[in-house]
Amino acid sequence: VKANGKSGVKIYESELDAERQRKQELEDQIRLGLARGEFEVVYQPVIEAATGALVSVEALLRWPGRPGGALGPDEFIPVAEASGLIARLGLFALRRACEEIRPAEGLGLCVNISPAQFLDPAFEAHVAEILLETEFPAERLELELTEGYLIDHPERAETAICSLKGMGISVALDDFGTGYTSIAYLRRYGFNRIKIDKSLASRITFDKQAAILVAGVINLANGLDMAVTAEGVESEQQATLLKLAGCQCLQGFWFSTPKTAAELRAVLPLEGAE
Ligand code: C2E
Ligand code: CA
Ligand code: CA
Ligand code: CA
Repeated sequence: VKANGKSGVKIYESELDAERQRKQELEDQIRLGLARGEFEVVYQPVIEAATGALVSVEALLRWPGRPGGALGPDEFIPVAEASGLIARLGLFALRRACEEIRPAEGLGLCVNISPAQFLDPAFEAHVAEILLETEFPAERLELELTEGYLIDHPERAETAICSLKGMGISVALDDFGTGYTSIAYLRRYGFNRIKIDKSLASRITFDKQAAILVAGVINLANGLDMAVTAEGVESEQQATLLKLAGCQCLQGFWFSTPKTAAELRAVLPLEGAE
């Protein structure tokens, strides 16, 4: 028994070591990848439910040139966050997106912001600098924040959101439905928009409780002057239900997968963009 227990512990430790080593390697690859310009940004269209018009795009990081094969943001962003590299990676994504989307006059741009980026008191100044350098109008930019952070750092969140809004930037609460926060509580932050997470939005066609919850969220948000975007819309039925429930904007594979700037350019008047 003792021998078994011992070897069990050993396996456990070596698995931990392997995991730690994998993360360390990934961290080194991200650092190198940033220096070598391996990261790219793709853009997923966001559609106005009432008209079907394209109103904005969400910028999403991609790493196609990674040695050892492409890796999704769900895998490399947590490592970038844990190592502090997210500050540079996040600002890279914002800058690249502003450069590439600026020529599409009137098109909104949504960019994901990591809690770790947001925690940096210099964050607002970095954003202001990027807007200035890329000549991107603040009114066309919306930053997407996740709720977990707000609960841990309510004062910092309030300060940052307030100064971003003062610059003319919109602020959206991302991944709504994955956490615990109530909408009423979120009101104090003055979000312009709530994004209903795909894990919740995808249930509405077969789960009556989810459908009732989503309809309630949309109603309440609208009553509090917040617009609602549903993400992960994969079917016409879902799109119709969300539209009927009063959801302003829809995003998902049913409308379009994320596109490169070049692909967007083919369908949009991105004049002057190369
Ligand atoms: P997110 O902010 O919730 O972004 C939406 C994710 O859902 C994207 O995954 C998108 O490609 C995917 N998606 C869109 N429509 C559909 C659909 O109809 N069905 C399904 N199943 N999925 C859909 P992606 O690009 O892999 O990004 C994953 C997450 O990585 C994002 O989730 C976001 O949290 C994070 N992320 C991506 N780019 C950035 C970035 O520049 N900065 C930060 N901080 N996070 C980023
Ligand atoms: Ca998002
Ligand atoms: Ca997110
Ligand atoms: Ca989400």
